[in-house]
Amino acid sequence: MTSNNLHVDALVVGGGIAGMQAALDLADQGYRVALVEKEASIGGKMIALSKVFPTLDCCSCITTPKMSAVAHHKNIQLLTYCKVQSINKNGSGFKADVVKKPRYVDETLCTGCRQCEYACPIDLPAAFDLNLGAHRAVRVPFSTAVPQYAVLDIQNCILCGKCETICPVDAIDFTQSPQEFEIEAETIVLASGYELTPTDAKKEYGGGQLPNVVNALVMERLLAPTGPYGHVLRPGDGKEPESIAYVQCAGSRDQSLGVEYCSRVCCMYAIKQAMLLSGALPLADITIYYMDIRTFGKGYEQFYQNAQAMGIEFVKGKVARITEDEDHNPIVRVELIDEGSPVVERTHDLVVLSVGMLPGYNPQTIFGVPVADDGFVTLPSPNISPCVTGQPGIFVTGTAAGPMDIVDSIVLAGSAASEAAAYLQAHRQPELVGDLRVTANEKKERVHA
Ligand SMILES: Cc1cc2nc3c(=O)[nH]c(=O)nc-3n(C[C@H](O)[C@H](O)[C@H](O)COP(=O)(O)OP(=O)(O)OC[C@H]3O[C@@H](n4cnc5c(N)ncnc54)[C@H](O)[C@@H]3O)c2cc1C
Repeated sequence: MTSNNLHVDALVVGGGIAGMQAALDLADQGYRVALVEKEASIGGKMIALSKVFPTLDCCSCITTPKMSAVAHHKNIQLLTYCKVQSINKNGSGFKADVVKKPRYVDETLCTGCRQCEYACPIDLPAAFDLNLGAHRAVRVPFSTAVPQYAVLDIQNCILCGKCETICPVDAIDFTQSPQEFEIEAETIVLASGYELTPTDAKKEYGGGQLPNVVNALVMERLLAPTGPYGHVLRPGDGKEPESIAYVQCAGSRDQSLGVEYCSRVCCMYAIKQAMLLSGALPLADITIYYMDIRTFGKGYEQFYQNAQAMGIEFVKGKVARITEDEDHNPIVRVELIDEGSPVVERTHDLVVLSVGMLPGYNPQTIFGVPVADDGFVTLPSPNISPCVTGQPGIFVTGTAAGPMDIVDSIVLAGSAASEAAAYLQAHRQPELVGDLRVTANEKKERVHA
């Protein structure tokens, strides 16, 4: 397949774990798939995590093979740095207008050798590490990125030409411009994922203001073996924290934020991080301030009990406010519900806000897929068809459908692939069998008769 005016069976939008799994499941059944991802690499949020609950498997180790399988599958056309601009109904299928952003690097030449990155004199806050470290203006997005092509940030480039001079295959191309092309597909799977509630959404918690109040994704990067410091240090001054607190429901179950639902993963990821922290910093005190602990999945309650047995302190109470002392140590003001409800102030070295999930993308305008009051895709029959949207031929999977963990995202991706495959079979153009025109389903029935 070429990248110009593709014709495929299925278009998958979003290359996180859910989109990758749906694409692989369809491709393994012989369907041709185009996977469109807006970032320069696939992997979604999962590739940035440290380890996964409840098994504590290394996240990179389980995500990278999937990314590689997607990139090397003969039935998958991987289109990164691309966005769907518009969709039109095209007979029984869809025609998508897609635009590819310029990388200023020729993908047909780049080998991912990173010579350009080493030569570049410009340091910028590292997006993959949530601005904790630095990266160059031209760089491979992160060490396990797929595809391994460099991308140049033209806004911050000083056009010194050092990358161009050093590139052994002459892949740097300052003249690139956005490229438009079309994809014709018979079905679409939306897997556009989630974003986090902004860290500064609850002003009283000081996120984005107090240097030692961070969100949970920042902690994932601090804990990751490939993280910015190689060790857990507080961002404010590089000190090793001796007392770390988690504030639960810091972006979910909160009417004042308009986010009334539970984000389902925050309790489990806080418990996971607390366990990892007690391994990384054995002498540190770790406290989790919570309203309710929700551990709904297989093996999850046991995981919670293990954390309690390890000495992690669970304190029931909604945190009212976070301020800081003169050394930038966060001070948490909380009512201790299980101890007669006194209101106390406790000082920690680092506070992690367990922020929640918001929909990453609104597919209503472009895909005509209705969204519910919470912003996630509406599911007309959530109990019996959890991937079917209000738009015939378009299916949804992963956190684009609502908050969920990786296990559920994978399960739902398989389900979306099955729904899409069934739709493809049912809507195939009738073909000539003998002197009769029959649909694929009828043909299958004849074969099995
Ligand atoms: C701090 C934290 C820790 C977590 N830890 C765990 C854990 O240990 N275990 C666990 O099970 N779960 C964990 N989770 C949850 C886990 O991250 C999600 O369940 C999982 O990443 C969902 O995958 P997804 O593919 O649905 O979405 P995403 O990972 O968000 O992927 C969506 C992809 O779609 C792309 N995209 C979005 N819009 C468009 C568009 N318009 N066009 C093209 N591409 C688009 C995005 O760039 C992204 O690559 C954690 C979550 C957080 C916040």
